[in-house]
Amino acid sequence: MYWNKDHECITRERLEEVQLQKLRQTLKRAAGSPFYKAKGIADYTIKDLSDIRKLPVTTKQDLRDAYPYGMVCTPIDDVVRLHSSSGTTGTPTVVYHGTNDIDNWTELVTRCLYMMGLRKNHVFQNMIGYGLFTGGLGLHYGAERLGCLTIPSGPGNTKRQLKFMKDYHTTAIHIIPSYALHLADTLESAGVDPKKEFPDFKFAILGAEPHSEETRQKVEKFFGIEAFNSYGLSEMNGPGVAFECPERKGMHIWEDAFLVEIVDPDTLEPLPQGTKGELLLTTLNREVMPIIRYRTRDLTSIMPGSCACGRTHARLERFSGRSDDMMILKGVNIFPMQIEAILIGIPGVGRNYQIILEQKGNNDHMIVRAEIDPSINVDAYRSLEKLRERITRELRDEILITPEVDLCEPGSIPVAQGKAVRVIDRREL
Ligand code: ADP
Ligand code: ZN
Repeated sequence: MYWNKDHECITRERLEEVQLQKLRQTLKRAAGSPFYKAKGIADYTIKDLSDIRKLPVTTKQDLRDAYPYGMVCTPIDDVVRLHSSSGTTGTPTVVYHGTNDIDNWTELVTRCLYMMGLRKNHVFQNMIGYGLFTGGLGLHYGAERLGCLTIPSGPGNTKRQLKFMKDYHTTAIHIIPSYALHLADTLESAGVDPKKEFPDFKFAILGAEPHSEETRQKVEKFFGIEAFNSYGLSEMNGPGVAFECPERKGMHIWEDAFLVEIVDPDTLEPLPQGTKGELLLTTLNREVMPIIRYRTRDLTSIMPGSCACGRTHARLERFSGRSDDMMILKGVNIFPMQIEAILIGIPGVGRNYQIILEQKGNNDHMIVRAEIDPSINVDAYRSLEKLRERITRELRDEILITPEVDLCEPGSIPVAQGKAVRVIDRREL
């Protein structure tokens, strides 16, 4: 049941001792980098874990400014790999790893995969980008350590993905949620029943982008599988940071590898357990490039109570998006996830959507483009009109703004090779 019971079920008391010792070591190491040296990181004393709040935060901009080697705290000879973020929000940032860093990262990913039920006899098809993006290689190493037959299929090329799944009897896939919905669309349009076509298929790991509970359920129902939420970011290695256990009530974040804080994004004051805020993370194992109090911009909360699986590491609630994803329209704060949750719950709505923001005179205007379900008859115009009305009404109730709803044919909204582009903002700044 556990990949490493001692680590996964560690008592809180022991965990805090380990964290304190690792935090002190991290500060010592970090002082070797030009960036943290300039911050005077060696001058801080850590008496207990709450002293972390005295330390300066690190932002994505800091990582960019430190390009290329400003955050590396060891000789470059000790670096064996670099990865960079996918650049969803601007210039990519680079993260460097030494041999032990890769080993520790792999161990965390293996822990996650074992936790969700993957074993040596599984066939794991990794439909996520290899290369600079961390999702491909990160999961790949973990699955190999577990002993799975690991297929580095990468993203895209849907026909080939489906052929591999069938021919190699794939049992588990790693996939970006928006692409999982696209796979489902492709199969449905071709009239293929996935349960008959892929009888061995059991698990999907959905990661790399925010997605709603409704999306998870849609994927599970269509393929007849279980889907697990996986959270990671390149600054903290990549995948393997937080992952769902079989209880699937929140994602365990590995607190022996990352120190977790949830803060108010405006004041950086700590928030009580259960309150949603920005996640700050500090690496505890990283040797080549430790990062202290990284502002992830991702919004979540720590779930109260303990998990029935027996693991003691805190659980993060499903992410509602990043603070930079938030749209402000007519003074109302809206997250794309709110719109996704509504769309996906309405029968007749397909699996791909896009939000377009425009300016009409002095007013903000939102257009929600949604594909219709491939099984709907496009000529049945009257029912489409009803569908449009229902979407408009349900969205208005959720976001308090009346969007223009544009229904389009399945396949007409482009599918990204990597993370989906959900919002197109054409407003003047
Ligand atoms: P970039 O910042 O360029 O997108 P990464 O590839 O490192 O770079 O992406 C990490 C980000 O992806 C996270 O900070 C988070 O916003 C998002 N993300 C990853 N996994 C999930 C998940 N399971 N749920 C919600 N968001 C996720
Ligand atoms: Zn659990």
